[in-house]
Amino acid sequence: MRIIRAAKVLTGRPGEVLEDGEVLIDGATIVSVGPRGHAGEHAVAGEGDVLDLPGHTVLPGLVDAHVHLGFDDRVDPVTRRSPESDHHLLLRMAENARKLVSAGVTTARDLGARGFLDIALRDAIEEGLAVGPHVVAATRPITITGGHCWYMGGEADDEPAIRRVARENLRAGADCLKVMASGGQMTPGAPPSWIPQHGTEQLRAVVEEAATRGKGVAAHAHAHAAIRSAVEAGVTTIEHCSFFTPSGHRYDPALADLVAASGTFVCPTVHGAFERIRKVHGAEMLDAWLAGVTAMREAGVRLIAGTDAGFAVGGIANETDGYVGGLEVFAMAGHGNAEIIELATVRAADACGVGQVAGSLDPGKRADLIAVAGDPLARLADLRNVTLVLVSGRSVGQAGVDTVTSSAG
Ligand SMILES: [Zn+2]
Repeated sequence: MRIIRAAKVLTGRPGEVLEDGEVLIDGATIVSVGPRGHAGEHAVAGEGDVLDLPGHTVLPGLVDAHVHLGFDDRVDPVTRRSPESDHHLLLRMAENARKLVSAGVTTARDLGARGFLDIALRDAIEEGLAVGPHVVAATRPITITGGHCWYMGGEADDEPAIRRVARENLRAGADCLKVMASGGQMTPGAPPSWIPQHGTEQLRAVVEEAATRGKGVAAHAHAHAAIRSAVEAGVTTIEHCSFFTPSGHRYDPALADLVAASGTFVCPTVHGAFERIRKVHGAEMLDAWLAGVTAMREAGVRLIAGTDAGFAVGGIANETDGYVGGLEVFAMAGHGNAEIIELATVRAADACGVGQVAGSLDPGKRADLIAVAGDPLARLADLRNVTLVLVSGRSVGQAGVDTVTSSAG
C-alpha cells in the first residue's frame, strides 16, 4: 500500500476538489481517496510508502482520445521512397508512447495503425516491456478502396467487405473500430475532406460489428453528410467534426444540434501545433475551425480531448508530447480550466470505452494518476509541470518503468 498526498486532489468527479488530500493505492488499484489522514498510517508499511507533495495537485491521468503513434510527423507514409519496416516502425511507436506518457497521458486511443502494431505495442506496455500509456487500439481504419489512409490495410467498400475487415480487426484484438466516413487531407489521390466515403448503412454495419464485442466506433468525419451519417449510424465518437466544405469550414448549427441531442462524443482534434500553424499558414482557416469548436460547446456537444498527434499539419510537427498545448486550444475556444480537465480525463475515458477503469480517482479503478507542481485549476499551463506519472500504479519516468516502486504494493 502507498499513500500519495498533495495540496490539492482533483478526484475527476466533476467539480470535486480535495484541499490537502490523499490517495491510497494498493498495487495497480486505487483503494480510497479523501482528506489527509483518512487512510490512516496503519494502511502503509513504513514511512517510505507515503509520498508527500506539498505545492502539488494530484489528478487522474490524462487521456488522448486520438493519436497515431505510428507516424513521425516528417514523412508521408505512402510516398516515402523506402518504406519503413514494421520492426523499425514498432520501435518508433514505442518512443512516441514514451513521450506521450511523459506528458502525463496515461490512456491513449490509437486511431489507426498498420499491421496490428498498435496491438503489439499495447500488450508490450502492459507487460512492462515498453514505457507508455494504456493503449486503446483501433488497428486498421476501415476506408474505401484508395480512400483516406488506405495504406493501413483496412480497405472495404460494401457491407460484406466492411464486416469482414471489422471482424478481422476484432479477432486481432482491437479495442474499438475506426471508420473513415469522409475523405481527408493526408492521403495522395484519396477523396478530399468534404467528400463522404461511406454512407449511413455502411457505418451502421461497423457499429453492429463493434457491438458484438461490446466495443465502440470512432468515425473520422469532416464533411457535413459524413457527420450526419455518423450520428444516424450511432457511432460513439466523431473525429474532427470540422464541417468542411470545398470553400473551408462552414459550421451548421442544425447539424451540431443533432450531434448534441444524440449524445455522440466529438473529438475536434485540437493540438499543440495550432498556434504555429496559424502563424505559418494564416489565421482565417484555423479561426473558422476554432469558432466551430466554441459553437459546438455552446450547443451542448460532448467534446473530448484528442490531438491527432503523429500527423504533420502543413509540414508542422504535431508531437506526442505537445498534449497540453491541445488543452490550451480548448481554453482559446472558451472552455474553463475545470471543464478542460473534465474533457481530458473522465469524459474522454468514457468516450474511449474505459470509463469503468480510468478517468477518475475512484476506489477500484486503475491507479492512473499524475502530480503536477502548482494548480492547473488556476493556471492550465501547470499541467506541463509533471513530477509524477503512475500508470496502473507503476511510476513512469524518462528512464523507464520504475519496477521497484511497482512491486512495493
Ligand atoms: Zn487521425
